[in-house]
Amino acid sequence: MRPSLLDPLFAEASALPGVGPKTGKLFDRLLGDASHPARVLDVLLHLPISSIDRRNRPTIAQAPLGAVSTIKAQVTEHRPPRGKGPFKVLVEDGTGDLTLVFFRANAGWIEKLLPIGETRWVSGLVEIFDFYRQMVHPDRVVDEVGLAALPPVEPVYGLTEGLFQRVVAKAAAAALARLPALPEWLDEKALRRGGWNAFADSLQKLHLPQQPQDLAPEGAFWVRLAYDELLSHQLALRLVRAKMQTLHGRAQNGDGALRKKILAALPFELTGDQKRSIAEISAHLAGDKRMLRLLQGDVGSGKTVVALLAMAQVIESGRQAALMAPTEILARQHFATIRPLAEAAGLNVALITGRDKASERRATLEALASGAVHIAVGTHALVQDDIAFAALGIAVIDEQHRFGVRQRLVLADKGAAVDVLAMTATPIPRTLALAFFGDMDISSLREKPPGRQPIDTRAISVERIDEVVAGLSRAIGAGARIYWVCPLVEGSEDSDLAAAQDRAEDLRKFFGDRVGLVHGQMKGRDKDAAMEAFAGGETKLLVATTVIEVGVNVPEATIMVIEHAERFGLAQLHQLRGRVGRGSAKSSCILLYAGPLGETAKARLEILRETEDGFRIAEEDLRLRGEGEVLGARQSGAPGFKIARLDIHGDLLRAARDDAERALAEDPELSGERGRRLRLLLYIFERESALQLLRAG
Ligand code: ADP
Ligand code: MG
Repeated sequence: MRPSLLDPLFAEASALPGVGPKTGKLFDRLLGDASHPARVLDVLLHLPISSIDRRNRPTIAQAPLGAVSTIKAQVTEHRPPRGKGPFKVLVEDGTGDLTLVFFRANAGWIEKLLPIGETRWVSGLVEIFDFYRQMVHPDRVVDEVGLAALPPVEPVYGLTEGLFQRVVAKAAAAALARLPALPEWLDEKALRRGGWNAFADSLQKLHLPQQPQDLAPEGAFWVRLAYDELLSHQLALRLVRAKMQTLHGRAQNGDGALRKKILAALPFELTGDQKRSIAEISAHLAGDKRMLRLLQGDVGSGKTVVALLAMAQVIESGRQAALMAPTEILARQHFATIRPLAEAAGLNVALITGRDKASERRATLEALASGAVHIAVGTHALVQDDIAFAALGIAVIDEQHRFGVRQRLVLADKGAAVDVLAMTATPIPRTLALAFFGDMDISSLREKPPGRQPIDTRAISVERIDEVVAGLSRAIGAGARIYWVCPLVEGSEDSDLAAAQDRAEDLRKFFGDRVGLVHGQMKGRDKDAAMEAFAGGETKLLVATTVIEVGVNVPEATIMVIEHAERFGLAQLHQLRGRVGRGSAKSSCILLYAGPLGETAKARLEILRETEDGFRIAEEDLRLRGEGEVLGARQSGAPGFKIARLDIHGDLLRAARDDAERALAEDPELSGERGRRLRLLLYIFERESALQLLRAG
């Protein structure tokens, strides 16, 4: 149970003064997720991304161009718009004059705001236009009283459409007022060493900065919170790890009979890395310690068959297996791949998603509960309450960083002594592996299955799109199948979708009904239908939003076009490119970009052209963008850090790890004085599910 001291933090943000139900919805969109609306805590942890300094108070003549100034001046003239032009207001201060420009402004409102002859403080960006100094839409227009109330340094927050800076700042201030008095969970020494302030003070300084430096991620206030977050994460990892080690596993040796049949049915030889990983996992399963192992391997490295052989060993030992994938498309694909091989060994495989027919679902659940089904493949629908196994022995979790800790634990809880194999196609640099997985055991597939040809990758300006389309037309004539990926448009799923729909329309003009479309807002059935049509060759060109990013396997697809490639992260581009080059035919990837490219975007496209080594790409990505993107933290459900940035705070990891280790060595149940405080920390950074492990056996 969450300590009631923290209740105010978990109240809905819409209950904050100044945030009504309507604004509350915007906060939900910005900070909430599927499992909860935006809460006071989310508002507090939504730190400003920059600040505006309103302490620069130059005269008009001295005001620096291209910077924000706060200027005292007298209103001398109103110039109402001619036609569609802006409303202009002239002000002066004895050193010069300045034109305030308002587009689509209401005249009455301006007359009230800036009466002729009055003195006002105006704050905003000063620029030169047509030889005149101007300020377009001043951020602030206040009198002396208003000036006194103006924060000297104003935080700037990440927003969502319809939400305004001032509203977020006000909500943050209100949230700070609700912050209960919290006991210090860090030890004296760490505080002094870092020159850190209390948790609440640090938050206060970040939301109500006195100077722009207060907001620096390298500064003491941010660093304190980043350390807190890393510490909570390390504590959670250690709790999981400690639990796994004390847990008895069950020796799941198997007799090898099923594995033999599956191997015989495989149309290919295993790679050396596959064999080694299978051996590692097999030994782990056979031991009596509980397994928690990560299988990492680039897209197309052949993780599925490794997982299948692990499941087979468990089934040989008389138990069942579950494989959970983050999307329905992936779950179906795993089902399709695994079923024929499993059936060749006489095994029953069932598919469970969120939208099975009630009667079918009932039958499947019965078969699971009786043990008639050996392998259940599905989405997070697998963790629903009514799903019970006769004897679950292994949980395989694909793209595990897409799931929350809770979902992972719940699946493993559906049996006794369940071994866990997590899989990821995002190779993880070592710093990150430590951060995200602690001391988890890892098996890696670096080697690709044989016969793959390198992918010919080119960056082409979107201005040459006609040439590209002509090239595709020739390729389709020769039987090629093509993905065309449209990017995420800034912050809005709707415009994201619109872009893909428009592109599909355009391409239909050339290719008619050979063009398919798949996107995230489609109903599951329609998505499958679109994927199947493409996999089956009914459509030749599939326009997609990033839903195809992870794991989709259509070996016949040989061309990947990525539109606005400059908007994607490196890891994401690599994942997307991995959709082609899966068969033996020569594949290519066309990165369509809209210039001019920034330095980082240029570097990204360059690296992509240079290498297909996912491990190298992951390192470069970390270097170029920070850790968030590497693990796809932008996708919902990723346990990314809210505050810590490993490119900046990575060197705190070791201290946080040692701290967590010491705390748990002294107080394994977190029940002592400091332990109870650390529990608060786990709740604040929402890693409290690890505490459940302390309760049960
Ligand atoms: P991922 O690691 O991305 O999940 P998959 O398991 O989906 O990769 O495998 C990608 C493709 O490679 C599949 O079509 C699979 O059948 C094939 N494959 C896997 N292992 C081998 C191998 N050793 N030799 C040839 N093809 C293989
Ligand atoms: Mg896979």
